[in-house]
Amino acid sequence: MEEKKLSWKQLPEGDVLEAGTSRNFKTGNWRSVRPIHIPERCIHCLICWVYCPDSAIKTQDGKFLEFDYDYCKGCGICAHECPKDAISMEPEKK
Ligand code: SF4
Ligand code: SF4
Repeated sequence: MEEKKLSWKQLPEGDVLEAGTSRNFKTGNWRSVRPIHIPERCIHCLICWVYCPDSAIKTQDGKFLEFDYDYCKGCGICAHECPKDAISMEPEKK
């Protein structure tokens, strides 16, 4: 028997979340690895800051300051893009 396809009007509505709530969800506890900054290698180019999808890199006076571990999900993009290998991804401690 041929399966009857639903039209888009018959699909159930998805959830709609309130806008501007991302600050309330601290996603850092998703992490299994964490970025560690190696200051002696860092040239403060801020490429890591540009690439971080979670805005989890804090800067001060145009320089790298620290990771915001409340929101960093440990994706490793910053370490991958850093031109000076100044970020190391380390396993999270239990
Ligand atoms: S990308 Fe690397 S060298 Fe550039 S600011 Fe970030 S940690 Fe420092
Ligand atoms: S590991 Fe991912 S989320 Fe965390 S600071 Fe680096 S780019 Fe941002």
